[in-house]
Amino acid sequence: MNVYLDNAATTAVAPEVLEAMIPVLRESYGNPSSSHAIGRKTRVIIEQSRRLIAQHLNCHSSCIYFTSGGTEADNLALRGAVRDLGCERIITSEAEHSAVIKTARSLERSHGIQLDLVKHHEDGTVDLDHLEELLVSGPKTIVSIMHANNEVAVVQDIHAIGSLCRDANALFHSDTVQTMCHYTFDLESLPVDFIACSAHKFHGPKGVGFLYIRKGIHLGGQIEGGSQERAVRGGTESTHNIVGLAAAFDLAYAELEEHERHIRHLKAKMAKGLKLLFPDVRFNGQSDEESRLYTVLNVSFPPHPKSGMALFLLDLEGVSCSGGSACSSGATLGSHVLRSLKFHDPERASLRFSFGRFSTDRDIDIALKAIERVFA
Ligand code: PLP
Repeated sequence: MNVYLDNAATTAVAPEVLEAMIPVLRESYGNPSSSHAIGRKTRVIIEQSRRLIAQHLNCHSSCIYFTSGGTEADNLALRGAVRDLGCERIITSEAEHSAVIKTARSLERSHGIQLDLVKHHEDGTVDLDHLEELLVSGPKTIVSIMHANNEVAVVQDIHAIGSLCRDANALFHSDTVQTMCHYTFDLESLPVDFIACSAHKFHGPKGVGFLYIRKGIHLGGQIEGGSQERAVRGGTESTHNIVGLAAAFDLAYAELEEHERHIRHLKAKMAKGLKLLFPDVRFNGQSDEESRLYTVLNVSFPPHPKSGMALFLLDLEGVSCSGGSACSSGATLGSHVLRSLKFHDPERASLRFSFGRFSTDRDIDIALKAIERVFA
């Protein structure tokens, strides 16, 4: 019996999403840029999907730019800000996803931009006083701070960060990949210029997402080619994936509160079970707290001779979890996030358990038993 507790890495496609996608693959094969009726029909489907997503986020549909996922959306925002909007400095954090921190470092090398890293408090939240200090002077800036950390579940106050950016006339990008469709956003009132989305984090298909770009901000062509996505991102649209993304949005928003209640219950059960098994267990980034990302629990197990093998042994037991982001599956080497937030302890195994709409009480019971056997 396999138990999947790695929903922050990716989620299973929901049957409702699949149902929405299959007819598109079967029938809506027209190129949305073609002027004939079959192409125009596909164009309508794409624009309906864009409108639906925009309605959920309370923004204009022209602010949604479809991409291949979260990585591309993050790249588009940062590279576009430097290349097209005159930003000469990026302020970000070492605890960002690689899609942000590596892009920022790459722009530092290729474009000579100034890269400033904001400090964190002990609990992993951004030091807003330090951010404010950094923003007092300096060249035109884009700040990139994620909404919730995919590894340790720390949620940042993006409203406060965005307000500081507005006051300092800086642009603000937030990687919202882990919170989109798990939390609500009102983009009329949230002071952000860019946010990123990836469908496969909320039971949509892989290989599709979007970048929200605030109205009035104009990026040049990131991927040169046709004039798709208002010439920002050339290439024939992935129609079935876009429909799947919109269907996953609809599904999530129809049951947002229920979904949150269900997952919070499972996460609390897991945390409680772990505390009973290991009185000295810790939760990195206090990821067991109410205010943290409710889908993720990052567990620091007490020192144990099998710590280095924990991920592998749990996999043998049929429990899929991770040691950090999916990119760092060799978890026990230590993730850049745990190191940068000073949660890394070489004596202790840190494992991330993350929950989704298909996770059950039984999954938690099975996982706890397997963990008990591994650390026996
Ligand atoms: N940003 C965060 C916070 C993520 O968790 C991920 C996925 O792991 C990404 C960006 C990248 O998204 P994608 O897999 O769609 O490229």
